[in-house]
Amino acid sequence: MSNSAGLKAKLGLDVFKPGLEPHIVIRPGMEKDPRLKKAILVCPAGLYSENEKGEVVLTIDGCLECGTCRIACGTDVLDWNYPDGGTGVQFRFG
Ligand code: SF4
Repeated sequence: MSNSAGLKAKLGLDVFKPGLEPHIVIRPGMEKDPRLKKAILVCPAGLYSENEKGEVVLTIDGCLECGTCRIACGTDVLDWNYPDGGTGVQFRFG
């Protein structure tokens, strides 16, 4: 099993409970900011991607709340908060 497949298998054990509001939001107008593009490379769950307009988009389901995108991109481009109590990721180690 490759490292990537091993990581995906382990992440597949985790449970995600979405909150009413996404806990990480790309600040309006920052979708094409070069700082935000770093998130595509660093997010361990692969939740950031670039659409055909060159805008970075975020799919929040599956977020590990690791904070890597916040550190890599900064809070000028990301509005980053922990999820509400009772929501978010529940880690299961297999
Ligand atoms: S907190 Fe971690 S898992 Fe969640 S979007 Fe940011 S880098 Fe990805």
